[in-house]
This record gives sequence, structure tokens and C-alpha cells, in this order.
Amino acid sequence: MTLRPTPQPRLLSIAPYVPGRSTAKPGVKATKLSSNESPLGASPRAIAAYKAAAEHLEVYPEGSSKILRTALGEVHGLDPERIICGNGSDDLLHLLAQAYLGDGDEAVMSQYGFSVYPIVTKAAGASIVMAPEADYSADVDALLDAVTERTRLVFLANPNNPTGTYIGAAELARLHAGLRPDILLVIDSAYAEYVTADDYDVGIDLVNRAENVVMVRTFSKMGLAAIRIGWMYGPAHLIDAINRIRGPFNVNLPAQLAGAEATRDVEFTAKLKSYNAQWRGWLARSLGSNSLRVIPSQANFVLVLFNDAETAQRAFEALLEVGLIVREVSGSYGIPNGLRISIGGEAAMRGVVAVLKDFGAAGAEA
Ligand SMILES: *Cc1c(COP(=O)(O)O)cnc(C)c1O
Repeated sequence: MTLRPTPQPRLLSIAPYVPGRSTAKPGVKATKLSSNESPLGASPRAIAAYKAAAEHLEVYPEGSSKILRTALGEVHGLDPERIICGNGSDDLLHLLAQAYLGDGDEAVMSQYGFSVYPIVTKAAGASIVMAPEADYSADVDALLDAVTERTRLVFLANPNNPTGTYIGAAELARLHAGLRPDILLVIDSAYAEYVTADDYDVGIDLVNRAENVVMVRTFSKMGLAAIRIGWMYGPAHLIDAINRIRGPFNVNLPAQLAGAEATRDVEFTAKLKSYNAQWRGWLARSLGSNSLRVIPSQANFVLVLFNDAETAQRAFEALLEVGLIVREVSGSYGIPNGLRISIGGEAAMRGVVAVLKDFGAAGAEA
């Protein structure tokens, strides 16, 4: 018998994260609508800062991401001491799970919630409990019903990926009010910049008035996915705990500098938001019909439901045939009749509608 190192047995039950597909057939120009990336690129100010940082790659970054925390504090009106930045928000989700979950503990999430939550939960030795959704939207009563004495943490993506749905401020407050004070509520506001609903609460007020709420954010959906920056705002005791275990230089310097500029470039953020709102509405109206259902979205993608899994699969292939790569949500998300389509450039949006006309889409609005 050969001896060799073996990973913790609990890790072997984790299904690895499956990223959105990024290649089309050889010879076909690929347009990626599978990862919710910015169709307008990144803030020009962020790009300039990133390039300037290339002159001094020999120097360690400042480890607490102070430059970036200062910019976030100014623009969002937050105490920079209560912000932690991470190498993407995935980094922060792992750290939260590692800090607050252990063997025998449970974390609650919504049925169609973000597929990273089960990974970080199981990696920490805990188990994930799924609360059923009401028509593809998080259901506060079901989330509260899923809580047991073992629950230590609740994950809520708001708006959620891959459904695009959100719960309003009153429901979010009701969720928080129903949780024991020793349960951490993780509000993942990855798509906050794209929300247009009036009754949305990004989570800052809840963090300010409670000791058991943290808000997690990302730059990835705003044009900086390549350089991996996430951040979170939480109570001082949580910040203290996470700072003890995070990588000492977990955000690289070019990312810190680019992130700070992107934060201050509020005009670019506004431009992305209005572009997205316009084409999100257009795409939903052009696709929605008796045979195609578009779930109302507050994010930079829409979830489209077909009559059955086989039709969704054929639609996926038909889009791929012309180089339009969308996201299948059968496997890791359990929505076999759905496809998630990111809001992309105009030509891509028109291309999607043209292909899906054969699958019952209403057809392009002028
Ligand atoms: C994309 C996404 C993230 C995070 O992404 P990073 O690229 O790791 O910052 C987090 N939560 C949700 C719900 C997302 O969709």
C-alpha cells in the first residue's frame, strides 16, 4: 500500500465551481454572455491606474488595502476601518465561512442561491441547508423556517445570481429580525450597482444598526473581473476576526489602485447602470412571450425559462452556433429549463433575440 497525503474527507464532497463557458466553435467569433461581465469594459481611470502600477511590481502592496478602503469610505459614506478588501468577493466568502462555521454547524441559503455558498460552507466543515423559493425569489418565511439551533450563518445574494430577483427593504429587515442575534446574516450585494428598484436596501443600514450583519460587494460585475477585487462592510468585531485570518497581502497593488479609481469614477458607474437598465428592459420585452418566460431581473443578466430542459438545451446550442455563449443553469443551479443571459453589447442582444425567435421569443422591439 502506498501512502500519500489525503485531503480532509469533507472536501471530497464538494463539487468544484463551474465557471461560465468562454469558447465557441473554431472559426466563430465568440461573445461571452455567460459571466455577467461589463459590456462597456472598465473605467478608463481604473485602467490608467492599473498601467501606472506596472512600473513598480517589485514592491509589496500595503496589506490592508488602505488606498481602496479610503476611496470606498468616501464614496459610500462608510468608516474605512470597518471595511475589508479581498481577492474577489469569493475570497471574503471563504473567510467568513472559515471564521464562523465549523464541524456540525449549518448555513442556510435560498434554493437557487449563488453556487459558491455550498462550496465555502462545506470547505469549513459545515453543512448547507436550502430553503425553498417562491417562484424563483428568496422566501423570507422559508429561510427562517430552515434555521435550526445549529445554524450559524445565513447567505443571501440580493439581487440573486442566477435568478436576478431581489427582496425589498422591508422583507430584508423582516429576515434579519427573525434571526437569533448569534446568527450572522451575510448580504451579498454583488449586483447592487445595477439595481433600479426603489425599495432596495443594499445592506448598509442593517450593518450600522446590528452586530450580526455583513455586506459583501464586488468590482467584478463593474468591469474589473480580471483583477479580482471584493470588499465587505461589517461590525468592528467581525472585521477584527477576519483580519486575523486573511492573507496579509490578499489584494495586489494594481488592483487596489485600479479599484480606488473605479470607486471614484461615479460617472462610469452611472453609465454602466443606465446602459444595463435600458438593455435589460429591452431584452426582457423582446424575449418574453407565451412560450418564453423572463424572470424579472434587477441585475446585469436575465434568467430565461423555456418549456422544458430539452428546449433550453437546444436554444443553448443554437446560440453557441453563432458564437453567443450563455450560461447553462441546470447542473450547479438546478434549473434545467433555464438559461442565464448577461446583458451585453447591442449586437449581441439583437443576436440573442434573433436566435430565440425560433424558440418562441416575441421578437426584437424597435
Ligand atoms: C459574481 C458574484 C460574486 C463574486 O464575485 P468575485 O468575482 O469573486 O468578486 C459574488 N456573489 C455573487 C452572487 C455573484 O454573482
